[in-house]
Amino acid sequence: YRNGEHSNVTVSTPSGDVTFGQKHPVVIISGPCSVENEEMIVETAKAVKAAGASFLRGGAYKPRTSPYSFQGHGESALELLAAARDASGLGIITEVMDTADVDKVSEVADIVQVGARNMQNFPLLKKIGAQDKPVFLKRGMSATIDDWLMAAEYILAAGNSNVILCERGIRTFDRKYVRNTIDLAVIPVLRSLTHLPIAIDPSHGTGVASYVLPMAKAAIAAGTDSLMIEVHPNPAKALSDGPQSLTFDAFNHLMGELSVVGNAV
Ligand code: PEP
Ligand code: MN
Repeated sequence: YRNGEHSNVTVSTPSGDVTFGQKHPVVIISGPCSVENEEMIVETAKAVKAAGASFLRGGAYKPRTSPYSFQGHGESALELLAAARDASGLGIITEVMDTADVDKVSEVADIVQVGARNMQNFPLLKKIGAQDKPVFLKRGMSATIDDWLMAAEYILAAGNSNVILCERGIRTFDRKYVRNTIDLAVIPVLRSLTHLPIAIDPSHGTGVASYVLPMAKAAIAAGTDSLMIEVHPNPAKALSDGPQSLTFDAFNHLMGELSVVGNAV
């Protein structure tokens, strides 16, 4: 990664190219934690597209703390993401957890996500670096900024120069009121250390739906290039991360508020 300059990552989507790295407009990625069924993913895609999002997120392969929690629908969920892409015109971002699934995921995804728990899965980083879809690299929950940048370096060194860095909250001593501590100081710090575009995920960063909007505003004020926001048609019934997911109404409200702060797409 290069110091002292800023560069863009441009991603093609069915609705045209979207550029990360320009601060304004801020690129909005939203959608459910997990792809649960066709109806909910298509409905969510249409709703977030209408509100101004550029990318649909949704997990097919889910890294869950408990092996008894919903693990994602896997390959069949990739097909549902492809259907949602066709129905909405949004680009697709989804996580890959296993080197064996990289080719399959990168066929459907416009951006391939590496989750916090796999930030230092070096075989996975090398495999993802060797394919040509842009990569969304989440910060490990206990990773230093240098650890994170070196993880990005694995992808760059393998030949893929399109990496977006996403802060999603780190582990600190106080988790009583928030799921993670969202580290917004990474925005100016990364600006001084790397050319790579920055995204902030206030959904995983706080774990609480009502804290997402204030942290999203703060991230825009601090100069983020992108935001990842979890949205679900019925958060109370979500199979994962319901408490931090916004309803469609709350997401529409957020988009209106963000356009006042910082000209979201
Ligand atoms: C996600 O974005 O679906 C996710 C699992 O997030 P993280 O890897 O940041 O926990
Ligand atoms: Mn989630």
